[in-house]
This record gives sequence, structure tokens and C-alpha cells, in this order.
Amino acid sequence: MFVDKELITIKAGDGGPGAVSFHREKYVAAGGPDGGDGGRGGNVVFVADTNVNSLLNFKYKKRYFAENGQPGGTRKCSGKGAPDLIIRVPRGTVVREAGTGRILADLSGTEPAVVAQGGKGGWGNSHFATPTRQIPRFAKGGFPGEKFDVELELKLLADVGLAGFPNVGKSTLVSVVSEAKPQIANYHFTTLTPVLGVVKVDEDHNFVMADIPGLIEGASEGVGLGHEFLRHVDRCRLIVHVVDVSGCEGRDPKEDFRIINEELEKYNPDLAARPMLVAGNKCDIAQPEQVEEFRRFVEEQGYEFYPISAASATGTRELVYAIAQKLQTLPPIVEYEPEPAPVPMERQEKNQFKITVDEDGVYEVEADWLMHTLGMVNVDDYESLQYFQRVLRSSGIIDKLEEMGIQEGDTVRILGFEFDFIN
Ligand code: GDP
Ligand code: MG
Repeated sequence: MFVDKELITIKAGDGGPGAVSFHREKYVAAGGPDGGDGGRGGNVVFVADTNVNSLLNFKYKKRYFAENGQPGGTRKCSGKGAPDLIIRVPRGTVVREAGTGRILADLSGTEPAVVAQGGKGGWGNSHFATPTRQIPRFAKGGFPGEKFDVELELKLLADVGLAGFPNVGKSTLVSVVSEAKPQIANYHFTTLTPVLGVVKVDEDHNFVMADIPGLIEGASEGVGLGHEFLRHVDRCRLIVHVVDVSGCEGRDPKEDFRIINEELEKYNPDLAARPMLVAGNKCDIAQPEQVEEFRRFVEEQGYEFYPISAASATGTRELVYAIAQKLQTLPPIVEYEPEPAPVPMERQEKNQFKITVDEDGVYEVEADWLMHTLGMVNVDDYESLQYFQRVLRSSGIIDKLEEMGIQEGDTVRILGFEFDFIN
């Protein structure tokens, strides 16, 4: 089965709740609040793994939830953070937000990508001691971890794409020069799965070769499977055009060569313009004159020519070295940049908030969009609190509070957090 696009749901862990606890010690009458913070929820991290070569697993398992952080403990002990949830995908997988199509990560390189951030742990009550409130009895729940429906799309990241008519020996070549075991069949039915093979050149060098299945006449017009599959080699750096020089199937190698090049051109001129080497296959059953005639034909057009017999692995080593050498002179595979997140909610709904005063004189601010900002604030850090102050001011909340007659030292409650109003 060929799987190249899957929809899954990922969720980072929620932060653990903060603890409500009071310091107890022999001979110390009433200790202060010492409830620790909750631990951070686990992130969801994508990692490109060359041992994974399809998205098949994601067809069956759809939900990937990281663990939540542990609750805070007594004596200001923070709860344990949850480990990151690692999702292994084939190299070349692009992660998009479902619906918007926004690229969240491109797993082309070796860098892991944190796609969903774990929620921050809630504050323990030790944070809430203020001069007027020495014994805080509240703590804060953890912040929710990010949750996304994401679409995984596998864009094969082949350095080299094999082009050529069906049955010319592309799959055989991949199987001979790499560990990949593609289906080899003597019929004009195109391979259903693009096969990625890692070709070892020497200890330190390897490259990825992909059999581009389905390139048949008319493929660029969407006939057959060709078009769909061609997408996968859009990013390859070099094309190796495999031609059956023996003409054993009654076809003319020159004609084949021309047709495939035209197809590439029609499908994507960029791809057609990519550097190309020509491998003349089935030399074992071709007449030497046939091989030489074809060699002249392609060399006149400026291509390098390599005669091989994939089936008997003759000349394939030379071809591999030539490819490796050529790749060293070519630019790396194009990677997509993650797209910036849409404008945060803060900015979109800046002025939407509601302030009420409860029977204890506490000013209750309702503004869900502040959740995100609040989640990032570190109360032990002056700068961080300053930032929060600025958000409150720029959004008009402070003006509104003053308009409502708030006095220095009054309590403001925002999303369960309490602050003393100091101007
Ligand atoms: P693909 O459609 O281009 O992937 O072609 P395959 O690799 O599936 O090969 C098609 C047929 O050609 C199979 O029967 C292979 O055994 C045969 N074949 C591949 N390479 C050679 C070769 O070098 N010499 C000969 N005589 N047959 C070959
Ligand atoms: Mg094949």
C-alpha cells in the first residue's frame, strides 16, 4: 500500500497542578505556604528517522498524546516534568496544521522539531503569599498542552531520482546498490510504492536514491499514477535517467529517452532542468554497437553516459561513484521553512475582557486570551512580570480597573491568579 499523507492528532501534556501546602516544623508555630509548582507537560517532538520509510504506521494509530506534568509537592518541591513524546517519521515529512495548511515543521534535516508545546505547571501556593495575604489557600491548575490536528505529508527526500520507462530496470538498480528491496517484475505495471534506498558510497558518504515509479507517457497529463508519484521527486538534486539500451522489448532507446524527457518537462520544467546522468541498462543482452550508438546519442546532447547491467551488478559501482561525485558539486535539498504562527489571540481580540467586582471586593478579570501570556509569565522574574504588566496596560485592562475605582492594594483575580493592585 502506498501511504503518503496522513492526518493525526497530537497533544502535548498539560502542566501539573500547583500544590497547596503549609510549612510545618517542630517549634515553628505557623509556617508559610510552601506548595510547589506543578511539573511541565511533555512536548510533542517530531524526529526524522532514516529507518522509517513510510507513513503507514500513522494510518492505524491516530492519536499521540504526551504525558501530563506531575503535581507540585510540599516544601516547594516542583512536580516532575513529563518526558517529551517523540514521533518518528520518514526524512522528508512535512507537518502541516490541518485546515489552515500552515507548515509547522519540515523534517528534512536532522534537527528534531517541537510541534506542540507542553503546558507550564501551575503555581503552588508558595507563590501567592503577599503582604496582605500571608496564608494563600489557592494554587493554580496547570496550563493545557497544545493540541493540533496535523497532516503529515511525505515528500520523498531523495538526492537522486531514477527516471525511465517501466521495465527498464530501475527497481533492479535500487535493489543492487542499496539495502532497499523493491518489487522487481517483468511487466509494464508501475511500481506502486516509491522505493527509497540509502546508497553507501564509503564509510562517510551515502545518498538516497528513489525509484520514481509511474513515469509513463501521458503521466504529466495525469494519466495513470505518474503525476501523483512525481510529486515525490520534486526536490531531488540529480536525475539518473535509466534507459534499456538493448531494446529487448521492441522499443527504441532513443525514442524512450526523448519521451521521458518531454514528460519531465511537461510535468515540471524545474525538474527537467535538474542535472542528469544517463545509465544505459541491460548491456548484458545488448549488442556492443547498440550501446555505443546510444552513448554517442546522449553524449552529443551533453550528458554523461554510464553503461551498466543492473541485474548482474556490472558497472553499477562506477555509476554510484559518478553520482556521489556529482552530488558533491550540487546544492543541498531545498527545505521548507516553518511558516510563522498566525497572529496570537492577544492581538486579535485585544479589547475583549470583562471585569466584575465580587462581594469581597476582588476585581475579577475575564479574558481567555490572556491564558497564553500568563502561561509564559515567570513570577519569580522581574522582567517577566513587567511584560505581563505591559500586556495588561496595552490591552486597556488597567485603565478599565482604574475607571472602576480600584485602589492600591486591592486584589485582582485573572484566570485564578490573584495579584495585589499596585500602580
Ligand atoms: P523497472 O520497472 O524499471 O523498475 O524495472 P525492473 O527493475 O522491475 O526490471 C524489469 C525487468 O528487467 C525484470 O525482469 C528484471 O529482471 C529485468 N532486468 C533489470 N535489469 C536487467 C539487466 O541488467 N539485464 C537484463 N537482462 N534484465 C534486466
Ligand atoms: Mg520498478
